[in-house]
Amino acid sequence: MASELVVEKVNFSYGRRPIIEDVSFKVKAGEMLGIIGPNGSGKTTLLKIITRLLVPDQGRILIDGIDIATWPPRTLARTMAVVPQETQISFEFSVRDIVEMGRSPYLRRFQAMSKQDREIVAAAMEATNVLSLAERSMTELSGGERQRVIVARALAQEPQVLLLDEPTASLDINHEVEIFQLLRRLTNREGLITIVVLHDLDLAAGYCDQLLLLAQGKVIAGGSPEEVLQDEILARVYGIDVVVYPNPLTGKPQVQVLVPGHH
Ligand code: ADP
Repeated sequence: MASELVVEKVNFSYGRRPIIEDVSFKVKAGEMLGIIGPNGSGKTTLLKIITRLLVPDQGRILIDGIDIATWPPRTLARTMAVVPQETQISFEFSVRDIVEMGRSPYLRRFQAMSKQDREIVAAAMEATNVLSLAERSMTELSGGERQRVIVARALAQEPQVLLLDEPTASLDINHEVEIFQLLRRLTNREGLITIVVLHDLDLAAGYCDQLLLLAQGKVIAGGSPEEVLQDEILARVYGIDVVVYPNPLTGKPQVQVLVPGHH
């Protein structure tokens, strides 16, 4: 199992425009890192660099000390699973078809799945509570159900690193919480290295061990939710007045936006 992912002094530009500047952080197995920051701060770009969709101009991504730039694609596909922001599935795939696609890094071309592959697929569907939907078509599911299927596909890959880009952007609050509870449980149980881009600061505080706050491609703050979610820092980065106070039930920092004219 991978025990540590290190992002080391990564820089990236589109053309001449610097998008990611000198970003470094470390995530250990069993930990969930939340990447937060205003729109356009470079969060998605950073995830794409970690998944090797983009190549950094400088810096490295290391898993257990080995630069992922040197890994064969198949090794990478067996190690990392990605849940993208939105998944367009226009064909009449069943839920089971989609989750089975997670096994493809382990199969040769046209090779059928083994009994073990099918068991892994079933376990992934069970963990995400979509077994009862197995034969349904993806096109007839709700947003929350579909997102659980995409997480199931990622789990069927048996990844060591799980990357998610606003996985709950289109979901109601109850489904958001459901997905984050699932991610938290899986991260602990499987010892995953989980990195999630998210907007909601309260979810970030509630579920992540560490946060990385980006603005204009730079790390403004990194550390525990208590260290990162501070009034002055958030006011500066988001340009709004906020107060942060400990949630009376959980003790985690909670962010209250002060609406102009109401105080
Ligand atoms: P975030 O995920 O935090 O909203 P992004 O990583 O999507 O931010 O974008 C960071 C910056 O990079 C933005 O200013 C965006 O306009 C720019 N950008 C994103 N993709 C491209 C691209 N393909 N070509 C040029 N600029 C891009």
